[in-house]
Amino acid sequence: MKHFDVIVVGAGPAGSTCALSLARRGAKVGIVDKSKFPRDKACGDVIGPKAVRILSLLGISKPEGAVEISDVNIIGPRGDTVRLPSEQGLDYDGVGWSSPRVIFDHHLLQYALEAGAELINARVGSVGLTDTGYQIALPNSENLQSDFLVGADGSISTVAESLRLVDSGKLLLGFAVRTYLDSTIELPTISLWEESRGRLFPGYGWAFPSGDGRINLGVGVGVGSNKKAGVTATRELEGYRRRLAESKVISDAADPTQKLGGWLKMGASGTSAGKGRALLVGDAAGLVNPLQGEGIAQAIASSVAAARAIDTGASDPAAIYRTWIQENLFDYQRASALLHRVAIANPRLASVAMKALFTPAISSRVDSTWGIFWNDLADGAGTIRGARPARLLIKSLLKLDILIQNLAPSLIEVK
Ligand SMILES: Cc1cc2nc3c(=O)[nH]c(=O)nc-3n(C[C@H](O)[C@H](O)[C@H](O)COP(=O)(O)OP(=O)(O)OC[C@H]3O[C@@H](n4cnc5c(N)ncnc54)[C@H](O)[C@@H]3O)c2cc1C
Repeated sequence: MKHFDVIVVGAGPAGSTCALSLARRGAKVGIVDKSKFPRDKACGDVIGPKAVRILSLLGISKPEGAVEISDVNIIGPRGDTVRLPSEQGLDYDGVGWSSPRVIFDHHLLQYALEAGAELINARVGSVGLTDTGYQIALPNSENLQSDFLVGADGSISTVAESLRLVDSGKLLLGFAVRTYLDSTIELPTISLWEESRGRLFPGYGWAFPSGDGRINLGVGVGVGSNKKAGVTATRELEGYRRRLAESKVISDAADPTQKLGGWLKMGASGTSAGKGRALLVGDAAGLVNPLQGEGIAQAIASSVAAARAIDTGASDPAAIYRTWIQENLFDYQRASALLHRVAIANPRLASVAMKALFTPAISSRVDSTWGIFWNDLADGAGTIRGARPARLLIKSLLKLDILIQNLAPSLIEVK
């Protein structure tokens, strides 16, 4: 029997950040992951500006080979392009990194290990409660015990399931698949299109410089809580690659063979972020941005907050942590989840709205607000152009959310 102050399940960005924050505070931390590192992970490989700022405050360097990215091009359903500017705010520098996850996650894990966390390579099947904490029986019959538990085991979290913190009918899920191409692209690009005449595809495609001389190309789709619909993302990937090559957005590249997909748990819907001395962080807590699929920034921010809550010594750190989520992440998650649900439940309405947004008369006025809002940067944006309207938009959506829930819930029913 091995005993730790804290066991962290999962050594992705959330788990490593939480483990290093706790170990630096003097806790005895065990970090358990089923994969052998370095391991790959389906991702667009973009580490957003908020994540980069927190990492630099933690003293974490840019991974080898990572490239800096800032402005993003968005291509609309009619093929028009809008460039979303990226500017420096109060709590971010307007610059993100692109680094393949096989490198980035391994890089971050080294900091946790250097801080003193112990890595255990094993799959966690379930979590048990003891009189004083938590117990995990590993497949090799070894038992781990801890006073506190952190579930950082991604969107299909065993910890969340074991502790009954998930209501699967209320989840807001997406599925995304990515591949790498030997090709080049000028700016990170996101594309929207119609799946049939007048009906917006309930997701989007991306093509990002990958930081290793290739392009990370992928498609994501919103599925509500219907996991079967995830297959659409894989089906759309080749068509998307072909369209980008034909329109010369990327240099021509062969149809990729190696594809990797994964689930996105979004909008803080259907998951409680913890109870007692067990806390869920990152994707396990369902914190992915429902509009553009970013989750690394929230994984890192929530992990630092969870470590701080555990470090208070309170008997119910989950309550402190849930309040932090409520105050720092929840408004945006709810506001953007509303837009996500409206768009995928009403593809015709979404198509009309998107086409309007892409007309130059509108897009040239709202590009800054669009970039700030879509990337969840409003809170720390200070007074930069577009920040105030972005904050106002979030407030208005929260009011609209209450109205729709009460008066017209069918508008956001995702079938
Ligand atoms: C295709 C795709 C593209 C994406 N693109 C981006 C992007 O460009 N930028 C961005 O910010 N976000 C992106 N995301 C979201 C991002 O990948 C996640 O938000 C991020 O990985 C969350 O980190 P995490 O540490 O919470 O979980 P993960 O990175 O999923 O890490 C969880 C870890 O837990 C381990 N684990 C799981 N179950 C067990 C178990 N039972 N026992 C032991 N270990 C276990 C896994 O092996 C894994 O290492 C994308 C997601 C997908 C699917």
